[in-house]
Amino acid sequence: MTVSLPEEDARLAMAAFLIDQLDFIFFFYGLAFLLLGATCWAIARRRRNERSWAMLAAFGLIHGAGEWLDLSALILGDSPVFSSIRLSVMTASFVFLAEFGRIQMSDRRWTPGRWIYPLILGLVVLIAYAAGLTEAGIAARYALGLVGALASSLALLGRARSLSGPGRSYARSAAIAFALYGIAAGFIVPAAPFWPASIVNDAAFAGLTGVPIQLIRGLLACWIALAVWAIWGEQLASEVSSGSFSAYLREQFLWTAGLMSLILMLGWALTERLGEIYRHNVETEASGDIDLVASRVSKELDTADALTETLAGSPSTKDALAQGGDAALARAKAVLDLHVGAGRAEGGYLLDAEGGAVAASGALAQRRAADLLGSVRERSGSPERRAGFVFDAATRATVYHTSRDVTDAENRVVGAAALIVSVEAFAKDLEGLNRPYYFVDPHGVVVLSNLPDADHRTLWPLDTAAVSELAGRFDGVDVRPIARAEIRDAAWMQIDGAREYVRRRFIAGTDWSLIILKPTRQIFATRFVGIVITLLVTIVALMYLLGKERWMHEDAQRKAQSKLQDLARDLNIKATTDPLTGLYNRLRLNDILPHEMARSDRVGSPLSVVMYDIDQFKGVNDRFGHAVGDKVLATLSGTVSASLRATDNLVRWGGEEFLLILPDTDPESARHVAEKLRAAVAAQPFDEVGQVTSSFGVAGYAAGEPMADLIARADKALYRAKANGRNQVAVAPPPLSRRTAQA
Ligand code: GH3
Ligand code: MG
Ligand code: MG
Repeated sequence: MTVSLPEEDARLAMAAFLIDQLDFIFFFYGLAFLLLGATCWAIARRRRNERSWAMLAAFGLIHGAGEWLDLSALILGDSPVFSSIRLSVMTASFVFLAEFGRIQMSDRRWTPGRWIYPLILGLVVLIAYAAGLTEAGIAARYALGLVGALASSLALLGRARSLSGPGRSYARSAAIAFALYGIAAGFIVPAAPFWPASIVNDAAFAGLTGVPIQLIRGLLACWIALAVWAIWGEQLASEVSSGSFSAYLREQFLWTAGLMSLILMLGWALTERLGEIYRHNVETEASGDIDLVASRVSKELDTADALTETLAGSPSTKDALAQGGDAALARAKAVLDLHVGAGRAEGGYLLDAEGGAVAASGALAQRRAADLLGSVRERSGSPERRAGFVFDAATRATVYHTSRDVTDAENRVVGAAALIVSVEAFAKDLEGLNRPYYFVDPHGVVVLSNLPDADHRTLWPLDTAAVSELAGRFDGVDVRPIARAEIRDAAWMQIDGAREYVRRRFIAGTDWSLIILKPTRQIFATRFVGIVITLLVTIVALMYLLGKERWMHEDAQRKAQSKLQDLARDLNIKATTDPLTGLYNRLRLNDILPHEMARSDRVGSPLSVVMYDIDQFKGVNDRFGHAVGDKVLATLSGTVSASLRATDNLVRWGGEEFLLILPDTDPESARHVAEKLRAAVAAQPFDEVGQVTSSFGVAGYAAGEPMADLIARADKALYRAKANGRNQVAVAPPPLSRRTAQA
């Protein structure tokens, strides 16, 4: 053997510790898969074309719920109906896992159709009926869990190839986790008497590693959930394409993973601490209980011992056994009767030196003393005091016998005095204590108990030698053990499927013992408080983190949107603004003028336009160059803009021609404005060029007139101003139709 014993012990101790933690393990195992389900649900909702994520969501939610059902079975107790429900839930979850793998794989290689599921499920149901629930569960794990998880793993590997960056590593990580989960949940199954479940099973794994497989599955569930969450986060980040948001998501992911681990570890510690407090209370109570019960039993036995002592020491007894004689014997018999009566004994004997009864009393008086006393020498030590328990097959009762040597004046042993007390008598006394107990013989066979169906059943497994030794006694012993192993002093163990704290105490120095039980179902209730607190803290933390993530997501979207709007505004401004003068261009005119014309039509307010053109501008260009000409254009635009009202609009019509739109202005007022502008332009000095003049054409809008006509009339007026000698204002006559209407 390469395994040293202390190591083995440490492993067993760890296994025992972790088995005690199964409730918490089921809790976070379930939680991880529920979170996986929620994440996949979010993915499936976002990407409606990817149906497979809905399958993984269903797997996560159903399997997570299944783990919590396992948790409640542990806390509230199990039943065949409940365990078949849990088997169905687990099987259903594995169907969705397999379906996730199947859909993901179907576009790459051949996969069976959905017809495979009724086939497998039918098989599982058949096995459940033929062999049992455990076997059916194993079949479901092999056919759906293992295969489904491995298919999912392959599918995710394939998916990883199409991804890039961190998303690719996350997908690979998820693939590895799924493969390992497939082995942990689909291949390491409950023990069953067929291959490979007979070799590769939960018990073998726990024995080999000291770790229950449920813990491994739970940790793998956390890994899967985190990896899928990371994949999802990466996709979200790529959708929003905001650097700060993806940095936030990555940071958030680490935060969440770290915080979750911290909450779970603290929760676990809290749960364990609560359990510890409860355990400590139970242990203290149990030790108080067994002291109480043992002291009651001892008191009864002590009475019998004391009476035997006085019986053996009584002069009448000594006389009868030392000298004999009818009179002495009659006196001794009277004393014996007295002691049997006082001790409520089943029988009393006076024995001569050879062990033959010279006097007998009580209900058992007709029985041979040797049957009840002779063969049994339970109590070692002083030869003159013997006592012990014996099962009397004839009366089918366990009795306590106690005897003392009787000595004569010279201190020679001349015989013995014995009393026999029924154990059933003080069983009545114990009944009132209302605590479950067993009174067992040296082999652990129950002779007395207030629990049903316990009589003459062995409390712990017996070896074959003990079984054959007991075969004749007790009218047959029920060798199905109640507990899994011998109870020494104190232990936490499964008894008849329930978890109990047991204490054993040997009675009156014999190797018969009293064992009391402390049912500890409440320990789960106490630990459950820890689990619920952990769950609540987890929910609050998740709500905070998810809320924050959502807010950040929306913020990133908002920022991206406003950036886009800025860009659009920029483009719009660029499109409608003349770069040289900073004035609106003709594109913008097409917005402004029709709008003003419509307003004038609607309100009846006057509207005028003024077209102006710089005089002899070609000459400026020719003499001073195009660049100087540009500067003159820009400066004059500034001059004109500065002397306009806020509601007026100035548009560069083209070249060095401009159009002015004057709302709420009749042609006469417009002429004044134009005159003012003409003066302003003429007064604007230029370093090289000197003075520049311009000519103005004014036209008043006539209701209903087309825009092109209005502009043409202004242009015509401008032409007139040019023709009349430039540097002047000309007003266009009203349109022809108006003139005819006026006339
Ligand atoms: P008139 O008094 O009859 O208007 O004489 P003019 O020389 O100004 O004649 P016209 O209006 O037909 O000539 C327009 C000239 O303005 C032609 C072109 O060289 C010049 N021009 C048009 N756009 C620009 C421009 O953006 N920058 C410069 N520097 N010159 C321009
Ligand atoms: Mg000109
Ligand atoms: Mg011109």
